[in-house]
Amino acid sequence: MGETKPMGKQQKFIFVTGGVLSGVGKGISAASIGAVLQAKGLSVSIQKCDPYLNVDAGLLNPAEHGECFVTIDGAETDLDLGHYERFLDLELTQKNATLSGRLLQNLINDERAGKFGGKTVQLVPHLTGAIQDAIELAADGADVHIVEIGGTVGDYEGLSFVEAIREFSGRVGRENCLYVHVVYVPFIGTSKEFKSKPAQNALMDLRGFGIVPDCVIVRTDEPAPTSIAHKISQFSGVSENAVVQLANASTVFQVPITIASSGIHDVISAFTSNHKQPDLSKWEKIVVAQNTQHDKRVTVGLVAKYVDNEDTYISVLEALKAAGWQESVGVDIKWINAESLEKKKNYKFFENVDGILVPGGFGKRGIEGKIKSAKYARENKIPYLGICLGMQMAIVEIGRNVLKLKGCHSSEFSNPTNPVIGLMTEWIRKNKIEKRSKSSDKGGTMRLGSYPCAIKSNTLAYNIYSKKRIDERHRHRYEVNTKYLKLFEKNNFIFSGISPNGKLPEIFEYSSHPWFLGVQFHPELKSRPLNPHPIFVSFVKACIDGSK
Ligand code: GLN
Repeated sequence: MGETKPMGKQQKFIFVTGGVLSGVGKGISAASIGAVLQAKGLSVSIQKCDPYLNVDAGLLNPAEHGECFVTIDGAETDLDLGHYERFLDLELTQKNATLSGRLLQNLINDERAGKFGGKTVQLVPHLTGAIQDAIELAADGADVHIVEIGGTVGDYEGLSFVEAIREFSGRVGRENCLYVHVVYVPFIGTSKEFKSKPAQNALMDLRGFGIVPDCVIVRTDEPAPTSIAHKISQFSGVSENAVVQLANASTVFQVPITIASSGIHDVISAFTSNHKQPDLSKWEKIVVAQNTQHDKRVTVGLVAKYVDNEDTYISVLEALKAAGWQESVGVDIKWINAESLEKKKNYKFFENVDGILVPGGFGKRGIEGKIKSAKYARENKIPYLGICLGMQMAIVEIGRNVLKLKGCHSSEFSNPTNPVIGLMTEWIRKNKIEKRSKSSDKGGTMRLGSYPCAIKSNTLAYNIYSKKRIDERHRHRYEVNTKYLKLFEKNNFIFSGISPNGKLPEIFEYSSHPWFLGVQFHPELKSRPLNPHPIFVSFVKACIDGSK
């Protein structure tokens, strides 16, 4: 029998806000605090509140905003949810990603439906109330619920969130809320000093909104003298022990260990009345794995449209890294710009590459480069992993160059004579028919979230999973056109995974090749640092075999 919780135990809430700059590691700080709490035996839930007016992260430009992370129930969320899942080994859902746009849309719909009984609908109390309800919903019975507020305190669009978390202490009691403010302290090269003034101002801003933080995390690029913590403590009224300096770490997985040995640990121990020493063995293992320099190395060519922002493919990169740790091999990434590849006649980009990975994507730019990559991998017997669009383009390549289909393409990019990839207009999700057309709204209308897939025996896919039924997460509008399945299969191009009703091909492989696999889903989203996804493990193994 599982442990029963003491009756009426009060849940605890930790709010993580940021000052000075965004993008300095609030997400990693929030996830790391969660990791330490888990390591103390507490159950944790976590939520990201994003103040921008989008309804979800689905239509945000990944070059600016990083990858769109998809949850099992099909929520299109910010990449921080990926950090949370990897750090805390949780499966999150829509309720863990709260956006102003969605809350406002609901409020306005309710207003139109006459649900406010003639009252004036206002940001305070209606939006702030909706935010607090969303926090309570996401807290989901966990011992501690962590809420990260996106952006920085003082941003116009974030004000309702800051007010909501201030008010929240009135709902549950101040003693059940812990406020952590993450600030950035820059180093000025010319005068060679760290400057704490912007951080002091950021703390003053937070106080101005009625929140006195319990902890301050001071982010710096390089280790800073402890006098910085002293100064910040003096100006903020936060005790020096609760001001923690976090310089850039060699790996983000070091952060839980650093937090556990800092003053924050004392603060969260007192806050949760849990004084156990955290068991950090998992994190120590990960840090050792990350810092081990392997003689054996493989190079994966990542054929991408966005080559200057690692965040765009963060889950793919983390999955490759984790697979490398498991196989005791270093995985180097060679970024290959799909668009430049398009223009070149030769394949010099693939020199010294042990495997080729074409990740998911949308839009025409770089498409022919992705098709060329699949062709090169097929002809030169180099391991190929095509994810979503990467699989679709491998199918187009084979349709064109092996099956000699004229006008062969995906109908995402043209109106082809042979649409081997086409728009799926309806499918079944949880016994309900979902319909789409070319003119459907762009937001939230793809095949999203976890879907089952049946795997054929005696295939590479079966070899990888060792089971006949899997569930993986999707995010795409187009599907393999089943009209062509027989033709492909006659030529040793096998659809080794297909939806249980036989209508949606999910895995594609080439049986006359050492390792050639395309998947319609995103396996990277389920990979964990110490439990890498089997597809990535198998791919990395194939790269090792090929490099011998
Ligand atoms: N653009 C393709 C589609 O919508 C692939 C999407 C993806 O790679 N995630 O089907």
